[in-house]
Amino acid sequence: MAVLKSINPFDPSRIINYPQLSDMSLAIRLGRSQSSFSKYRSTSFEERSALVNQMAALLRERSRELAEEITREMGKPLSEAEAEVKKCAWVCEYYAEHAAGFLEDRLVETEADESRVVYEPLGPVLAVMPWNFPFWQVFRFAAPALMAGNTVLLKHASNVQGCAGSIENLFREAGFEEGIFQNLAIGSDRVAAVIASEYVKAVTLTGSEQAGVSVATEAGRHLKKCVLELGGSNAFVVLNDANRELALNLAIPARMQNGGQSCIAAKRFILESWIAEDFIPLLVKRVKELVVGDPMEEATQVGPLVSIHQAKEVEEQVNRSVEMGAKLLLGGERNGAFYQPTILAGVAPGMPVFEEEVFGPVYALTEASSPEHALELSNQSEFGLGMQLFTDSEHSAELFIKGAEEGAVFVNAMVKSDPRLPFGGIKKSGYGRELSAEGIREFVNIKTIWIG
Ligand code: NAP
Repeated sequence: MAVLKSINPFDPSRIINYPQLSDMSLAIRLGRSQSSFSKYRSTSFEERSALVNQMAALLRERSRELAEEITREMGKPLSEAEAEVKKCAWVCEYYAEHAAGFLEDRLVETEADESRVVYEPLGPVLAVMPWNFPFWQVFRFAAPALMAGNTVLLKHASNVQGCAGSIENLFREAGFEEGIFQNLAIGSDRVAAVIASEYVKAVTLTGSEQAGVSVATEAGRHLKKCVLELGGSNAFVVLNDANRELALNLAIPARMQNGGQSCIAAKRFILESWIAEDFIPLLVKRVKELVVGDPMEEATQVGPLVSIHQAKEVEEQVNRSVEMGAKLLLGGERNGAFYQPTILAGVAPGMPVFEEEVFGPVYALTEASSPEHALELSNQSEFGLGMQLFTDSEHSAELFIKGAEEGAVFVNAMVKSDPRLPFGGIKKSGYGRELSAEGIREFVNIKTIWIG
């Protein structure tokens, strides 16, 4: 079996190999997940909260060293990595406090003597996770799943096995019994066999469309519950009546966070014609000022992409768009895994940077002739994760709130995930929800009780 390779994107000569689990070790872990579930399911919310809060405390205490591991392994700037670890502590604390309320029995008035709805855990749940937020993606699923009484099997991306191992160790240190949270060091070619296991009751995937199709197909074959959090090509719409300064300020983090490698990053900038005129030169000026460099340096705002392969893919999407008529205003150059912050104007539907998900620091600018035209362009995507709108008009805000084909609409704010609000997409961005009450209810048996 091929080893799993962790390659430091800033210095690709630094490679750590992680051996895959043997078939025997994998089978032991699956069996252990089931036997731990038999005990863990009957623990109280108070007991689970104590464990999950202990995990939050460890994350806060170790945020710096865990952040360094994230940055070494996938290249995001250290300050962003540390914020990611702290957000994981927040989601743990949030569910430790609210899970019991979200999963409280619900009495329903009927003609029965008593009728109610109860929420029970399902069992071992497989989580297939990506490298771009190697801690956050895991915790935003694991915190509610564990508070609901499930056990978790993590199949993390092959290139972040260091983070995967550290997360498993943290769970052990927080006091979780061995089988409650386990890392499966396996390649993606072995995911189907895990989904097929009699012990695995459900699966969640955060990742690409192709992986989503494979996982959903296997889950369907075995009739197991499946949640998919896939890609996005969020629009960032600025109308003529927008607060230009606010839009400019948010255009940087909305696109540049994690070097642009975020599912909810703003990828298509749709500007109403009149505002575009002064917005574009100001955007070019701000993007030019960004500090690109060693992600371990405190001042760095944009690090390398996760790999040379990823940077080449972005380069190719930009080059093909330029060949089709997009105008390069800034950047467009690659050096190893670094791709310079890039701005393309005159982007039109049909071009790769409009149609495909661009996982890198690229602004694709398209002009719209009216708010209605901007909405039409915003919806002209296979994805439907979220969009942000900048306007001072209540009428335009309503137009987008009602008309946007998305899992989320943010007005005068950038799209972000928040434990208190559900998160997820429609169309090719997937199905199901994470976070909030909706997220914890994805992996439970919603049982109806009727007493006549
Ligand atoms: P990816 O290639 O799909 O990998 C994600 C996970 O799926 C990895 O663990 C990968 O394992 C596994 N995988 C890949 N192909 C598989 C298959 N055929 N069957 C089963 N598992 C498979 O995605 P990525 O490049 O790491 O991540 C970027 C994508 O994730 C982007 O599209 C991004 O938008 C999306 N994303 C979505 C959200 C959201 O919440 N909607 C959040 C973050 C990222 P290996 O590493 O071993 O291949």
